[in-house]
Amino acid sequence: MSIYISEIVYNEIKKGGGPMSSATHENYPVLEINLGGIYHNAKTVVDMCKEKGIWVTGVVKGTDSFENSYLEVARQMMRAGCNMIGDSRINTIKRMRELGFDAPVLLIRIPMPSELEDVVKFTDASLNSELETIKQLDFLAGQQNKNHKIILMMDLGDLREGYIDDKELIKDALYIEKELKNITLYGIGTNLGCYGSIKPDTVNLDRLVSIARTIEQRIGRKLDVVSGGATSTLPMVMDGTVPEGINHLRVGEGIANARDLQDIWGLDLPIFRRNNYIIKAQIIEIKEKPSYPIGEIFVDAFGQKQTYVDRGTRKRALIALGKRDIGDIFSVCPCIGGTTVEGGSSDHLILDITDSETDLKLGDIVEFESCYCAMIHSTYSSSVTKKYIFPQDSEE
Ligand SMILES: *Cc1c(COP(=O)(O)O)cnc(C)c1O
Repeated sequence: MSIYISEIVYNEIKKGGGPMSSATHENYPVLEINLGGIYHNAKTVVDMCKEKGIWVTGVVKGTDSFENSYLEVARQMMRAGCNMIGDSRINTIKRMRELGFDAPVLLIRIPMPSELEDVVKFTDASLNSELETIKQLDFLAGQQNKNHKIILMMDLGDLREGYIDDKELIKDALYIEKELKNITLYGIGTNLGCYGSIKPDTVNLDRLVSIARTIEQRIGRKLDVVSGGATSTLPMVMDGTVPEGINHLRVGEGIANARDLQDIWGLDLPIFRRNNYIIKAQIIEIKEKPSYPIGEIFVDAFGQKQTYVDRGTRKRALIALGKRDIGDIFSVCPCIGGTTVEGGSSDHLILDITDSETDLKLGDIVEFESCYCAMIHSTYSSSVTKKYIFPQDSEE
């Protein structure tokens, strides 16, 4: 095993305690990351994709941090059989390299012209859509005596990154293949369901495969990668409609947190562990209060107009957890039955505990499950303590 993290921290993690375990009190809020659950989900995704001839790159961008979470999550994904690790930022990739991570890394955001030297240095492959950038990568790869792999992105209608004109993509692909010595045309790919909310389907993905076949004919070899999207393509893998020829996906949320497919797509997927990111936060006040604000209603802490429903006097717990920790107050879901998140601000979350199944008191710790937004923010937030757990039942 390479040295991913310091031995002391690793031994703490193996014991199940995490870096904070020896402390007599926790620095709340605490984010508990279930690495066993992440491994389980990665293995589930990798195995179901393998059956369809599809490789999975595990995307860690939603779980980045300068602490160890990024590295640990990446390690679980590789252990489960992912072919590469994908991330969107060079600074976190660089950090992971410094910590000794040596598996192949794919940069999944189109590189900034100002970071190309590091792209060549710290990654093995990148998604691209600008020939000028690719030519510069070729030049820098030559200087570093390296080869860099390129996946050209085709915009199939979601209108974020990629060529919108397939002829232009094909032309650039041929140019890269013929003219650029230090760049390997690794394949083509697409991204859906991000800006334009476009669903992957057989029409748009068939089009991607057909563009790949045209390029292959013209260059006289197979492309290694035809990358058909992210977590949102997994439903097509599961119901068997993913077109033949798609042989790669880049999956982040569907492995790390695995909530979207159930919460948003409405699929019943008990095979996935859906509580890998648990946030624990402390109650700092409990009072019975009116549910309708008193006085003239104007705007909230973020200048937003809000509406309030008068439900009479309610028992409320004020929790030391806010937008600074989780991005959006409603991106966490309390684990205690009968409680509901009412709202909050930068540093506070208001929890209605009138009908709580558990008797709560000042100082108690309340657990929350995180959605994608809370996962991203809490892993990045320097005010959140991260702990890692390996539950007994996780497959080793
Ligand atoms: C974020 C991202 C992914 C991963 O998306 P998930 O929905 O987390 O699976 C894949 N590819 C690109 C280009 C991305 O930006």
